[in-house]
Amino acid sequence: MSHESRKALDRLDPRAPLVLDTRALDRRPGSMRELTRTVPAPADLGVEMVGVPEGTDIELDLRLESVMEGVLVTGTARMPLTGECARCLDPLEDTFEAEFQELFVYPDTRSGGEAEEDERRIEGDLIDLEPVLRDTVVLALPLSPLCRDDCPGLCPDCGVRLADAGPDHHHEVADPRWAALRGLTDQREEKQEG
Ligand SMILES: [Zn+2]
Ligand SMILES: [Zn+2]
Repeated sequence: MSHESRKALDRLDPRAPLVLDTRALDRRPGSMRELTRTVPAPADLGVEMVGVPEGTDIELDLRLESVMEGVLVTGTARMPLTGECARCLDPLEDTFEAEFQELFVYPDTRSGGEAEEDERRIEGDLIDLEPVLRDTVVLALPLSPLCRDDCPGLCPDCGVRLADAGPDHHHEVADPRWAALRGLTDQREEKQEG
């Protein structure tokens, strides 16, 4: 069973924050309706290292347009982001804006009797915006978010944040055999100084 046909079996909840009612929109092609909404972020909206905290406000600016086959939804979503810098693992906080456009076809509109695989449908008079928002956000988020473009990350030897440790931070001796030799040299130097 495909994802789409499984979803069609669950009736959409008209009170769900990301479900839009299209009844106020005239079905004549060219009719348009604009609306703004603030909705709580659904769970798991994000990628591994950065995402939208569940329940925080997502601001939506939406334009619903009647077209021949259905309703074209164009929107902007603004949301807070939290995550971790992929290099230094510092916490990140940011805001994020995503734009999307999606055609929802009328249930009685079938091109040649076959619904396309990835076609989104108006169910009853309702539009489910959540999968659209999810796809948009997940595709747009960086897989390796950075606290700043030139974040130097962590020292591969000791794990210290290189931004704190400074440009001179380095380890001359990584190999334990050299470390032993180095110890001898240090002792000799100390004797000479003393
Ligand atoms: Zn960083
Ligand atoms: Zn180090």
